[in-house]
Amino acid sequence: MNQEDLFKNVISHAKEYGFVFPSSEIYDGLSAVYDYGQLGAELKNNIKAYWWKSMVQMHENIVGIDSAIFMHPTTWKASGHVDAFNDPLIDNKDSKKRYRADVLIEDHITKIEAKIDKEIKKAEKRFGDSFDADMYKETNPRVKGYIDKISSIEKRMKRCLDEGDLEDLKQLILDEEIADPIGGSRNWTDVRQFNLMFSTEMGSVAEGSNKIYLRPETAQGIFVNYLNVQKTGRMKIPFGIAQIGKAFRNEIVARQFIFRMREFEQMEMQFFVKPGTEMEWYAYWKEERMKWHRSLGISEDSYRFHDHIKLAHYANAAADIEFKFPFGFKELEGIHSRTDFDLKQHEEHSGKKLQYFDPEENKNYVPYVVETSIGLDRMFLAMLSYAYTEEQLEDGSERTVLKLPAKLAPYKVAILPLLKKDGLPEKAREIMAQLQEDYMCQYDEKDAIGRRYRRQDAIGTPFAVTVDHQTLEDQTVTIRERDSMQQERVSIDQLDGIIRAKLKS
Ligand code: ATP
Repeated sequence: MNQEDLFKNVISHAKEYGFVFPSSEIYDGLSAVYDYGQLGAELKNNIKAYWWKSMVQMHENIVGIDSAIFMHPTTWKASGHVDAFNDPLIDNKDSKKRYRADVLIEDHITKIEAKIDKEIKKAEKRFGDSFDADMYKETNPRVKGYIDKISSIEKRMKRCLDEGDLEDLKQLILDEEIADPIGGSRNWTDVRQFNLMFSTEMGSVAEGSNKIYLRPETAQGIFVNYLNVQKTGRMKIPFGIAQIGKAFRNEIVARQFIFRMREFEQMEMQFFVKPGTEMEWYAYWKEERMKWHRSLGISEDSYRFHDHIKLAHYANAAADIEFKFPFGFKELEGIHSRTDFDLKQHEEHSGKKLQYFDPEENKNYVPYVVETSIGLDRMFLAMLSYAYTEEQLEDGSERTVLKLPAKLAPYKVAILPLLKKDGLPEKAREIMAQLQEDYMCQYDEKDAIGRRYRRQDAIGTPFAVTVDHQTLEDQTVTIRERDSMQQERVSIDQLDGIIRAKLKS
């Protein structure tokens, strides 16, 4: 199956089984806004809990907060979002489609990268074991040409974005002969800047209204509470404040399902450090966050780092953790060294000091900040698209299975009485009652057992417990593992231990 078909199948599977629905679907939906269904809400909660546990529970020096979505409008003046939270947009005059100019160029670079990969794969085949890919990249004229081309496009794009040279950004698109990915036309408008914040009014108009924004990131809620938390929690630097919450961006191009939404959720942590130590902490958090992703048991080649060429207005170093989505490697999480930019800006705009007294140094300073910021919805999509598998079984039949990490699976156990009679449902209910307090369980007695297994495979339930006549005699059941489909006869008392061990691994 090619990646495009895979992605389509993932989207329709998500809808069919109650993971993700288009928002207000009965009115034909709302562009780039989605609702999470009964299984989606579980998966999302499990991702949040896993993040919160690793960031807050497992770090003595990190605490979590929950700040409001609405904030004083000056917050966004101070943070730079009113003036600089823009995307360069460009329209295609023929297809009438709108794109982010930088994304068009990045996608063009990805295509050149694919050509390099193809050349290398070809050479690898030709030269066999003695092949040295790095050497080949340096010496093969065609590959070297591609690499130089990428580097010159990146340099020119960075200059345009840094200096706001929108004319040359358009020229770059023309020079590279970049075509509309949908319509194929090269008939482009000029590039314009577009602010991504949603605004609304607070208070009734009669009272005199006040323009406020829906927060485009959760981070500012942490910065404005920095001193509240530091003082009430008696926090000592280095320390972190974490938060999970909604963010809103009026994205120009809302494509790719829940990858780019207008309303989404972020899991962010701001780590406050002594000035001058930020690069050490930046390196530390890059590694820590990558470890977190890998701890879910997903293949290592699904992730890679991408160091930013264009730094945001607040950062002195930034990298993304990219995930191999069905549409290619794309940003899943950002790690940013934000300097003291935000706290200083808030000091200036509020007139309040946001400093830390360092007892070891015996002086006050504005801390530096290293941020980790992951999109909950992107993590959801990463897990869903990685887990989605169509398998051909030995007996020739097929199954669709979600190989979700057990920790994240919506249901942990399915309880299945073999027959709907002879006291088996009652026994199954009894087992369910024992497990339900600790695990999300689903009871199912409808249809043949094989079909019930398939239904559980399709929603990623790691274990199915079948209750049969022997259960009534000797208190044993069969437990079937989702991925291997192996079945084992165990006593009811062992179930808790087996499930617990799997969820810990
Ligand atoms: P992109 O370049 O893809 O627009 P970004 O660099 O603007 O993303 P950040 O501002 O660093 O993103 O936000 C941190 C994280 O929030 C991202 O890594 C991503 O996972 C998530 N995120 C950002 N925008 C969206 C969105 N529109 N929909 C879903 N998740 C998002």
